[in-house]
Amino acid sequence: MAISTIREPARDIDIVHETDVLVVGSGPGGLPAALAAARAGVEVALVERFGCFGGNLTVVGVEGMHWYRHEKTVESNGIAREFEDRAKDMDAAVPESQSLSYEIDSEGFKLVADKMVLDEPNIRPMLHRQFVAPIMEGNTVIGIITESKAGREAILAKRVIDATGDADVVERAGAPTFMTPREKMMAASVMFHATGVDKAKFIEGIKSDPQTYKDWGGGGEWQIETSGKEDDMFSPFLKKPFEQAIKDGLIPAKLNTIAGTWGAMHDTGELTYLNLIHMDDCDGTDPNSLTKYEIEGRRQAMLAIEALRNYTPGCDGIRLRNFGMSLGIRDTRKVDCQYNMTSQDVRNQARFDDSIGIFPEFIDGYGILILPTTGRYFQIPYRNLLPKGIENLLVSGRATGGDRDSHAATRNMACCAVTGQGAGIAAAISVKTGKPLAQVDVADIQKELDRQGARHH
Ligand SMILES: Cc1cc2nc3c(=O)[nH]c(=O)nc-3n(C[C@H](O)[C@H](O)[C@H](O)COP(=O)(O)OP(=O)(O)OC[C@H]3O[C@@H](n4cnc5c(N)ncnc54)[C@H](O)[C@@H]3O)c2cc1C
Repeated sequence: MAISTIREPARDIDIVHETDVLVVGSGPGGLPAALAAARAGVEVALVERFGCFGGNLTVVGVEGMHWYRHEKTVESNGIAREFEDRAKDMDAAVPESQSLSYEIDSEGFKLVADKMVLDEPNIRPMLHRQFVAPIMEGNTVIGIITESKAGREAILAKRVIDATGDADVVERAGAPTFMTPREKMMAASVMFHATGVDKAKFIEGIKSDPQTYKDWGGGGEWQIETSGKEDDMFSPFLKKPFEQAIKDGLIPAKLNTIAGTWGAMHDTGELTYLNLIHMDDCDGTDPNSLTKYEIEGRRQAMLAIEALRNYTPGCDGIRLRNFGMSLGIRDTRKVDCQYNMTSQDVRNQARFDDSIGIFPEFIDGYGILILPTTGRYFQIPYRNLLPKGIENLLVSGRATGGDRDSHAATRNMACCAVTGQGAGIAAAISVKTGKPLAQVDVADIQKELDRQGARHH
């Protein structure tokens, strides 16, 4: 709530850079966009508000990018797969506990992402710059204004990709966006990593009482509907220690939302990607809400560690290694695109003539968990990247348009990489052919996706 208003004086701003394709945000939706555009042969600038690339993968510590993968899973490959392969090559990945995938080390991936960016000579990395406003000519975006330690700066671009996750660019350009009502949004989480765990004892404890997806429950993210086939599969789920801690008065009874998954148990005694804290009612576009839940999330994480120490085998010496650099937000603005994905699309193998990528039938969120164990997959149409009413602007990542069930699928990092790669290629082709984004020939996008090794059919 504003107390009142003041008028900001008009001022001249330095134009510090001009480029073909400008990507705002470097998460799973943005980094692939920049890489794909550069590989398609145009000049790219990659703007990021923090000091590393990777978005939630590095900033929040979300390490499970491909935990949906099972024997029959059909996926897009492309840059999503390359993230995992490059992380393995650079010793920044370990086998994941519930799937045929590798868990990507959130710290190590900072170096992997640096290398991926620096390997592309036509990407200009621009860290530590926060997007604050689009530069518009009528309804056409021609660049952005950033704020940093250097003050305000302008960057001009022929095409812009909004990969902020929160649709910051689209919203400030005046195109329509929508949000799930705050009380129904997916929970926010402070993610953390621990150390000091005795691996042998911890794994022995897990094996003696293996949890399955059927055991999920406990409110928030963990109250789920499955398709049945998931129920008896192993899940690295932890709930019992926190239930016991509530019984013993170590954790207040109202915090029965503390439960969730661990990612990897390392030989070094590090227990990483602890996804245990789930807080409802946090609005990721409201800094007051973010402030409240950053602090509350850290408090809850320390209670969770205390419960693990008391009730989990191998955890006598557990201690905090680090929190994610930022609170983890799953759900904010979605862009009203030329095509918005639906529940039907992600549950019934949607097919589109203008497909720019595929994603396995993996739905995780809003109380649904469906794992892609059967080879089923859906396609994503190019129109899903095109915001309504604004020229020169695409969206990629979790803010692409769709309903709640479809968000539970498309928000996943590997799917964000699919829309990112498609957006980067489309923007590059638009620059090279001089055609407006909405008129780019999808056959050209698909041809370049083929060349870059990403499946679209
Ligand atoms: C706690 C948690 C657990 C999750 N678990 C999983 C999981 O196990 N598997 C999975 O696949 N997905 C998971 N997700 C979802 C997934 O992490 C996100 O949906 C995904 O990272 C979204 O990618 P993105 O690129 O759209 O946005 P982000 O990852 O949020 O990246 C956006 C980037 O843009 C930058 N940015 C934002 N605003 C600005 C601005 N104004 N100016 C400049 N830069 C800006 C940010 O700093 C960030 O680097 C989880 C999410 C959370 C929060």
